[in-house]
Amino acid sequence: MTFVDDDARGIILDHNRHPRGFAPLTAGAAILSNPSCGDRLRLALRQSADGCVDFAFDGVGCSISVASASMMTEILSGMEKEKAIEVVNTVVGALRGEYPVSALSQFGDVSALAGIASLPVRVKCATLAWQGALDLLLAG
Ligand code: ZN
Repeated sequence: MTFVDDDARGIILDHNRHPRGFAPLTAGAAILSNPSCGDRLRLALRQSADGCVDFAFDGVGCSISVASASMMTEILSGMEKEKAIEVVNTVVGALRGEYPVSALSQFGDVSALAGIASLPVRVKCATLAWQGALDLLLAG
């Protein structure tokens, strides 16, 4: 990966090798598919009685899609639903170039994805889990 600096690359590789929130899911989990790359993840949302959300995923994808899903589960899990929706909208908007990528810097490891925003082919990989999370949050 030459499109991100070494620090960002290290963070992405760490999330890819040790994905947070990665757990075998049962049938019924949402299928997230990015045919242009071959990413195929499944995502499940649990909501606790106090209104906080918790995500888990499994499946197979490229390093960007898996690392991004890992970052998503890490940062959103334990958040209140409304706050989680706000965060997802900000991250997806920044990755798609609708906001400055500097908006990602407030979200810890997610800032490592900033270099992806200028690579349209990879933006779908990076946004796959976040868009899936948004769909589940808005449906649930
Ligand atoms: Zn991909």
